[in-house]
Amino acid sequence: MTERIFNFSAGPATLPLSVLEEAQQEFLNYKGSGMSVIEMSHRSKEYEAINAGAEAVIKELLGLGDDYRVLFVQGGASSQFAMIPMNFLGEGQIADYILTGAWAEKAQKEATKFGQTHIAATTKEGNYARIPQLDEIKLSEKPAYVHITSNNTIFGTQWKQFPDYGDIPLIADMSSDILSKPFDASKFALIYAGAQKNLGPSGVTVVIIRKDLIEQGNKNIPTMLRYDTHSKNDSLYNTPPSFSVYMVGLVAQWIKKQGGLTAIAKHNEEKAALIYDTIDNSGGYYTGHAEKDSRSLMNLTFRLPNEDLEKAFNSEATKAGLSGLKGHRSVGGMRASIYNAMPREGCQALADFMKEFQKKNG
Ligand SMILES: *Cc1c(COP(=O)(O)O)cnc(C)c1O
Repeated sequence: MTERIFNFSAGPATLPLSVLEEAQQEFLNYKGSGMSVIEMSHRSKEYEAINAGAEAVIKELLGLGDDYRVLFVQGGASSQFAMIPMNFLGEGQIADYILTGAWAEKAQKEATKFGQTHIAATTKEGNYARIPQLDEIKLSEKPAYVHITSNNTIFGTQWKQFPDYGDIPLIADMSSDILSKPFDASKFALIYAGAQKNLGPSGVTVVIIRKDLIEQGNKNIPTMLRYDTHSKNDSLYNTPPSFSVYMVGLVAQWIKKQGGLTAIAKHNEEKAALIYDTIDNSGGYYTGHAEKDSRSLMNLTFRLPNEDLEKAFNSEATKAGLSGLKGHRSVGGMRASIYNAMPREGCQALADFMKEFQKKNG
């Protein structure tokens, strides 16, 4: 392969070409420091600026003020499944979880190791093809927090309207749609995301947390698992995943240059429409897994008439420079992950390929 291909992998996923080039440019000698970011002390002036800059641009994109912190931690989104209940699920309390997919299930299951949970809604029946209606959600009496998964990477569904429970802390796993559209982030007490889908390389998890919640965290847990440790030390308590944080900063700057979240959302809607329209106009040859009003703009899941055709589709697509389209085994079929960094041309190429494949094999 001599040229870059269109990579539809769910994660780690494609990154903006201009960001990769910028990192390449700066790789050997970062801003005249005479060294690479990966060789640099995390206590250096240069790295402190990278770290603070990444926090600032994420807050700016989300319109968040001084009452929030952006923390860069390790262990992936999966470690947040435990860190959240360890910090915020006190004795005798109940945490509410809304189950919309496999990641939400994992988050809830992990929480049961630390306390009691309540499943406020689930759409497991029907294999998570939809997001629950707001009036289907039945909270427990006084939940310690409510946890949702904003975009279901495996099933291809996405919340269109977030619930609002006033003073009850709302917590969201936004690993696969963070910074993909504007929303009122101040309604959330905590948002977390593994970087490797929409923000940068793997190795760093972004935690956006309201300061008053940080203070409420359990003090009798390991130091590294306390949000206040990371907040007090500006995410520099121990050696951070410095290159990943640097890349997240560059990606966030790139989003800003695209015109911010409103512009990126419009772009994402147009990209997804190219593929969803192809599915909907295929006369039933392609069928979407997600119900229409729950469709994700990030992970698009669809099936072909049978598994043999799905295998052929995947291998021919790969040959055509469209990689990573095989769906997750719990849904089957295809999944096109088209995060912020997937260019429109990639979506157009996939839509064209789908039409051509149907013509030949339909
Ligand atoms: C990928 C993913 C995770 C797991 O992320 P890790 O960083 O690998 O732990 C969790 N939640 C969602 C929604 C995901 O898409």
